Order: sequence, then structure tokens, then C-alpha cells
Amino acid sequence: MRVLHSIAEMKEARRKLRGSVGFVPTMGYLHEGHLDLARVARTDNRNIIVSIFVNPTQFGPKDDYTSYPRDTKRDLTMLKSEKVGIVFMPSAEEMYPPRYSTWVDVEKVTERLEGAIRPGHFRGVATVVAKLFNIVEPTKAYFGQKDAQQLVVIKKLVADLNMNLEVIAVPTVREPDGLAMSSRNVYLDPEERKSALVLYKALTLAQKLWRKGERNADVIRSEMTSLIQNEPRAAKIDYVSIANAETLEELKNIDRPAVVSLAVKIGKPRLIDNIILGA
Ligand code: AMP
Repeated sequence: MRVLHSIAEMKEARRKLRGSVGFVPTMGYLHEGHLDLARVARTDNRNIIVSIFVNPTQFGPKDDYTSYPRDTKRDLTMLKSEKVGIVFMPSAEEMYPPRYSTWVDVEKVTERLEGAIRPGHFRGVATVVAKLFNIVEPTKAYFGQKDAQQLVVIKKLVADLNMNLEVIAVPTVREPDGLAMSSRNVYLDPEERKSALVLYKALTLAQKLWRKGERNADVIRSEMTSLIQNEPRAAKIDYVSIANAETLEELKNIDRPAVVSLAVKIGKPRLIDNIILGA
């Protein structure tokens, strides 16, 4: 496994690869969710490239950029056992040299949900992903369904800018009790870890109601909200949403594929999760 830090080295290594290239962009502090992306990429491609880059431009001033968990040694050991060929690990200065001034703004689908709570977040995501795609030139790029809005934004980016690659969505990997795996779960103390399950419980409740035939989105949203409000450590609900899976516009009536998503602060960390109904 080669670990490359400079863009020039990465481009040079890419030029020498023959056959398809599967690319998995990450911010490191890897878990089974990330490894699953690499495994799916492995089944589809001759070569696998994983990037580890905690992208400063997608964090707002109140976000956790400096405290975001990092453990490169452990990450590299995990990737080695997954038989990843190349790990691209640029520094922030390498990606954003002095006087860097180009940004990618995907409109509309970035306005709501995470985009509304974290202004500028998706501009940072779209910009870094566009840069990584230009550097790595993947055949296919793999993203987790865990970050549902990010997936919609990246698909739109690739379609609108006619990028020459395919975006593949990989289902969310969960802990045995249902909690979606996330690098930020490390912030949860044991009590908060138990409370964090409320996100999955609320999503399961939505699915149960939908399976019983409930199609009124307000009814499902309010049932989910009261379940979460009954959880003492659920400090703050940022949103509980039932939206058109393609446009992310909020639905009144669930008459098409919908993404049910939520963001809740449990203790210090802010957790997000989602499920798809009717796809
Ligand atoms: P991150 O390192 O959190 O930026 O995530 C890198 C990639 O891994 C993104 O495409 C995420 O959607 C994906 N990912 C994160 N957590 C999970 C999970 N629990 N299951 C599947 N994919 C995930």
C-alpha cells in the first residue's frame, strides 16, 4: 500500500494505473462504514484509492474541525488489511495553498437540512470532492447513504459539471443495536451512547407507521419528534425531515420515494441519520 501526500505524486501514480479505479473519499478515523465502502469498491474495480483528508472548508466556525478525531496510524493499518492500493493523504496547505480562490456551489439541494444549519458546509464539500475527482480521476466514487444530503449534492455536482465518473451509494453500516457508525460516536459517553439510539428508534418508528399505511408526513414527523423529546439526553433537535428523495423538498404526503432524516444533538456531538421509504 502506497501512502501519498502530494498532489503531484498522486497524479503520477494515477497515470500509471491500468483498469478501473474505485475511489473512497474519507475524513479518516475509520470505522466499518468506511471499510464497507472500500470493500464494495473492491468488488467493482481493479484499483482502489482511499483519501483521508479532514477538509477545513466544510467546517463552520462553530464546528469541530480542530477537535475532529484523527488516528492516522490506526487508519493505515485498517486500510492495509483491506488491500487498498493507494492512500492519498494531502495536507490542508497542499489542497488550499495561499491565495486559493475557487469554489463550487451546488444550489437548491444544499439550501435545506444540513445546508441550512451549517452554512457553507456543502460549498466546502463540493469544492473538495471536485478537486479530489480531478486529482484521482476515478472510474467510480463510493459514498455512504449515511450522509443522504451529501450524496444528493455530489450526484448533482457530477451531473451538472458533466464529470466523467459514476457515483455509487452504499447502504449505512450500523452497530448491532442500530446506531449508525460515525467517527463522531467516539465523543459519546456511555450514557449518551445509550441515548443516541433514539435516532434509530425514531427512524424505525417512521418506517413502521409508513408500512402500516400512514402517508401523512406531518403525522410521522410529530410521532418521531415526541419520541426524541422523551429522551432526556437528546439536547436539541435540529430537524426531523421527510423529503422528496431526489430534490430534498419537504413532503406533505408521502406519495414518492422519501428520505426520512434527522439531526439531533446528544451531549456534545451532533448526530445525523436517515432511511429511505418507498424506493
Ligand atoms: P466521513 O469520513 O465521515 O466524511 O465519511 C466518508 C464516507 O464514509 C462518506 O461517504 C460517508 O457517507 C461514509 N460513511 C460514514 N459513515 C458511514 C456508515 N455508517 N455507513 C456507510 N457509510 C458511511
